[in-house]
Amino acid sequence: MPIQMTIIVLFGPPGAGKGTQASFLKERFGLVHISTGDVFRSNIKNETALGKLAQSFMDEGNLVPDQVTIDMLSAEVDKNHDANGFLFDGFPRTVAQAEALDVLLDNYQTNITAMVALEVPDQLLVERLLERGKTSGRPDDANTEIIQNRIKAYYTNTAILKSYYESQNKYFGVNGVGSINEITERLQELINSF
Ligand code: AMP
Repeated sequence: MPIQMTIIVLFGPPGAGKGTQASFLKERFGLVHISTGDVFRSNIKNETALGKLAQSFMDEGNLVPDQVTIDMLSAEVDKNHDANGFLFDGFPRTVAQAEALDVLLDNYQTNITAMVALEVPDQLLVERLLERGKTSGRPDDANTEIIQNRIKAYYTNTAILKSYYESQNKYFGVNGVGSINEITERLQELINSF
């Protein structure tokens, strides 16, 4: 793995638009996109042991345990050891995961370039997720109570990562309200400045 690589953590609460923006950014910057939620969902679909384990947590809108998630993420990174860079989407979500990611990247003699956070007010998140739930086929998007639980998990476990990366001068907030194109433009401009 080259030492000079772009490694972006795309951050924000559920419904902030991480997945939508990641699909543009990975093409634009030639990054390997790893969405832990997508990997879990594909394991559920394929009825793997990991999928069975993750499902009960995901169905309730709770986080999958750290060690399970970290092991899965490490395996995904190892599979792509020849990548030019990574776009992590939905990971890390806890301090333990952020610390594990630092150790993992350190083993490859590299580190995070930046945490790029999509900032969106809560009310808009619920609206967006319910709208997405009409077509996404995701059970955790279809129910207001589960959505609220996911947002709660974000504030309880994940929001703290803002200060984790701020203390390393690696936190960059982006206004996540606007059209998809407008937000892509803002993100591109920021990532180009790194
Ligand atoms: P997402 O697709 O990012 O919205 O994630 C959907 C669900 O997958 C979450 O509500 C969690 O149950 C689980 N999940 C995804 N990423 C993580 C992670 N980094 N740590 C723990 N659970 C995760």
